[in-house]
Amino acid sequence: MKNRLVLLGPPASGKGTQAALLAATFGLPAASTGAMLRDEKSRGTVLGAEAARWTAKGGLVPDELALTIVWQWIDGRTRFVFDGFPRTLGQAQAFDVGLKERGLELDVVYLLELSNDTVRERMCTRLTCPGCGAVFNETFHAMSEGTPCPACGEALGRRQDDTREALDRRLSEYRAETLPVADHYEALGLLRKIDASPSRDALFHSLYEDLSETAREEVGS
Ligand code: AMP
Repeated sequence: MKNRLVLLGPPASGKGTQAALLAATFGLPAASTGAMLRDEKSRGTVLGAEAARWTAKGGLVPDELALTIVWQWIDGRTRFVFDGFPRTLGQAQAFDVGLKERGLELDVVYLLELSNDTVRERMCTRLTCPGCGAVFNETFHAMSEGTPCPACGEALGRRQDDTREALDRRLSEYRAETLPVADHYEALGLLRKIDASPSRDALFHSLYEDLSETAREEVGS
């Protein structure tokens, strides 16, 4: 069984949704650095105030800040699925070292691939719940801003950084900063590429099949 997973992919490629499905199916604790930063901001912590300086315009927070919340969260855990981390080569290298120091290593890294046009379309139609963090899409779910969240009842809204202005910046940042992370894991033999354009369930099926296949390979070897 794969116990330590990372999901990489452009904004709105479904990383958070797939991490939640993996958590529910395999009991893997899921962590999103983006969600953790939003939580710090909404609680008004010092860390949150520092993060807000960078995230409001769609920029990445400094590596040290991202790593601080990651190690804070890991704190003794040995199983996880990360979504949106590592986001830079520096984070990936520091993560490798920190895991090794804890006697751990990554099992697999999935790269969710999506064209720029689909990323744009999904980001402009994404709705999120400020209460529980659930993510929906106006087109797929026939919902709009203000619709009560089916999970917790809070009014759905848009993320502050899901704007056309922030989008181009986030996409170029993804290409410049995060694609080298995928190359890093490819060189380590950990990367698996998955087409993220199908529906949520079809994408999860691909991940599920791949994880089951690798589990069968382990049993067979
Ligand atoms: P996300 O929810 O993953 O799209 O993240 C939202 C925002 O939080 C990003 O646009 C970044 O500003 C920031 N962020 C999240 N994760 C990281 C990370 N690993 N490194 C740096 N910034 C991050």
